[in-house]
Amino acid sequence: MRYIGRFAPSPTGPLHFGSLLAALASYADARARQGQWLVRIEDLDPPREQPGASALILSTLEAFGFEWDGEVLYQSQRSEFYHDVIDQLLQQQLAYRCSCSRKQIFTRTGSIRYDGHCLAQHPPRAEACAIRARCEAGVIRLQDAIQSTHHYDLARAHGDFVIQRRDGLFAYQLAVVVDDALQGISHVVRGSDLLDETPCQIQLQRYLGYAQPAYAHIPVATSASGQKLSKQTHAPALDALNPVPALLAALEFLGQHPPAELRDASASELLRWSIEHWNMEHIPKTRGLPWSAGQGGLCICTAPPC
Ligand code: GLU
Ligand code: ZN
Repeated sequence: MRYIGRFAPSPTGPLHFGSLLAALASYADARARQGQWLVRIEDLDPPREQPGASALILSTLEAFGFEWDGEVLYQSQRSEFYHDVIDQLLQQQLAYRCSCSRKQIFTRTGSIRYDGHCLAQHPPRAEACAIRARCEAGVIRLQDAIQSTHHYDLARAHGDFVIQRRDGLFAYQLAVVVDDALQGISHVVRGSDLLDETPCQIQLQRYLGYAQPAYAHIPVATSASGQKLSKQTHAPALDALNPVPALLAALEFLGQHPPAELRDASASELLRWSIEHWNMEHIPKTRGLPWSAGQGGLCICTAPPC
């Protein structure tokens, strides 16, 4: 099978250690299997984006030695594809308009699970609406290359989910599925914070007749208190002028154990080593692992940390 992988950052801020893990794991896995590696900027939510973040992300990737194939794809330029898919789902009655606010849903159901209200009560044409995709009854089985196999009952646990927001913005779930399919992505390697988003994506792939990529969800780096490192939890930006310590720490986090001689290597040499020695079996099979910027930044000893 032809391997096409990808890294798909959202330009809500600079890359941090958590994003480096996803970039590195997807890159090394693709290159170790002679695959292509694409970069896609998921700039679908302008209010959450930071001006200049896309350019900064790309220049940081370059400084870290990553080389992507083809042109970078920007989701903000792909509205027509998303519109077409939504029209198709609406026509096939696999999606429908919904005017409910979160508060209304909560008042009716006591939860955030959507109860299908607007499937029966078509909202008036003039009303601003979100679009929801229906979930089929039954269990979706998610086999992952790193995490254990998961079973999801979307209809019971989640209910029909939003693919276009009421303000017109396309939902991540829709865009990621359309672009993974249209770009021919065969392997998705990303953070396990997205594991529970995957069944909605599988549901859409089934409706649209798309092939399902193979999934591998790597553990996410968490603070000591268990919070995911992210822009919201003030994860420090990667230092484009000093990529080696972060790359070594990322390899260590992913269980790849680079030898001590590599402390003096360049970023490109480290990436080459990662590809040659890549072993997905060594990635810890857990959803999250504590990590702090002070720990392991320069130290590449195996546990216990020195
Ligand atoms: N854009 C998403 C993020 O930054 C990742 C999407 C994906 O890999 O499926 O969290
Ligand atoms: Zn509704």
